[in-house]
Amino acid sequence: MGEVKDNEYEEELVDFEDDDPKALDSASAKPVSDSAKRGYVGIHSSGFRDFLLKPELLRAIVDSGFEHPSEVQHECIPQAILGMDVICQAKSGMGKTAVFVLSSLQQIEPVAGQVAALVLCHTRELAYQICHEFERFSTYLPDIRVAVFYGGVNIRIHKDMLKNECPHIVVGTPGRILALARDKDLGLKNVRHFILDECDKMLESLDMRRDVQEIFKMTPHDKQVMMFSATLSKEIRPVCKKFMQEPMEIYVDDETKLTLHGLVQHYILLKEAEKNRKLNDLLDALDFNQVVIFVKSVTRAAELNKLLTECNFPSICIHSGMAQEERLKRYKNFKEGQSRILVATDLVGRGIDIERVNIVINYDMPDSADTYLHRVGRAGRFGTKGLAITFVSSASDSDVLNQVQSRFEVDIKELPEQIDTSTYSKITSLHFLNLALISFAFLYLVHLACWILEAFQVLL
Ligand code: ADP
Repeated sequence: MGEVKDNEYEEELVDFEDDDPKALDSASAKPVSDSAKRGYVGIHSSGFRDFLLKPELLRAIVDSGFEHPSEVQHECIPQAILGMDVICQAKSGMGKTAVFVLSSLQQIEPVAGQVAALVLCHTRELAYQICHEFERFSTYLPDIRVAVFYGGVNIRIHKDMLKNECPHIVVGTPGRILALARDKDLGLKNVRHFILDECDKMLESLDMRRDVQEIFKMTPHDKQVMMFSATLSKEIRPVCKKFMQEPMEIYVDDETKLTLHGLVQHYILLKEAEKNRKLNDLLDALDFNQVVIFVKSVTRAAELNKLLTECNFPSICIHSGMAQEERLKRYKNFKEGQSRILVATDLVGRGIDIERVNIVINYDMPDSADTYLHRVGRAGRFGTKGLAITFVSSASDSDVLNQVQSRFEVDIKELPEQIDTSTYSKITSLHFLNLALISFAFLYLVHLACWILEAFQVLL
């Protein structure tokens, strides 16, 4: 199979240009407090009410079923809603999105024709997901409009949208946002909140960093900058901070704290030629709600998916080689649970949040420990249970696995013959619905039986 890498922006790292007007000497940027630099565990006992958010936001939070803020939300939201710059590392699936969504919505006073917040991220699927989160939390703020812009869609449509119903919040990928801003269709001079999600990914690659910088320079000097990722190496932190002024900094310096505790992790030693049979056996044997299978190239994604569908598995694939419309359609189908197996490249390896995914399989080993961490983080989100299985078929695969084990201090064992389903099966809202229906049917039958008994007694 071919080795077309699925990375639209893969380039070498270069240094940030120091001529940016808002650039700061990274040494002068002070953390807010020592406690802010701690990692975090679990959910916080306080409520969202303690943040004194707008009632419209609190209502949407209740609708979303959020009861308590996670630790990262508890640490960041009070500072972020005051307009402070934030650089935040927190492990996958702990609600970083809600930090910037809620704090921007809290602060924005919508003005017709003016973009107040700009959110940039590295893939179209993630942009779509973030836009959806803004829509969800702005349900009771009907004056605030949000829109998403990315490549692969006719740019004319985007230009018309900006002209006719300019959104107050713009979410997008850097290439398309830059094109629209350069052509003066997208005005950025009123932007008050500039947000980068998966910021290390965006700033590590030359092409994307150049685009981000150019967009950044079109926004006003006086604005709030927020950046988020589960992985923020010591090398990338100063780069991020050059976009900020005295940011609140939250890092997880102890990398062992990035491990997801609800996630069971195993590996399987095998030869390349044995992978398909093994995968087949696993998919037959495992109890999964939805599973994501990661491969290393576009060609392998397409071919593995073909093989699985030929074997009657309910599988689809996503990679950058397909037309945008098709890509989004498949992503939505999977998110809505219409397919249970997704074969994918690293295109969906970061940021993507799909509630029902409880198993991740690394059919091909990721290229680094960071990529491993992001991929397996697609299962076990927000403290739920999950299972990650990694195929190891070469010496370099073993090297990456060893790095994962030593950096994150996680003991990944060989997959046993029998694996206890209860260790990775999570109860999803669908299960709750089923349980509720069964309980309701049971109560109804009991009621009916009592009624029949009573009727008999009357007759006798
Ligand atoms: P991250 O960006 O940190 O990887 P997400 O923002 O995608 O994580 O959140 C992961 C999941 O947790 C999402 O489905 C989100 O709706 C949910 N979530 C976030 N915050 C809360 C909360 N306070 N209570 C319950 N669920 C939450």
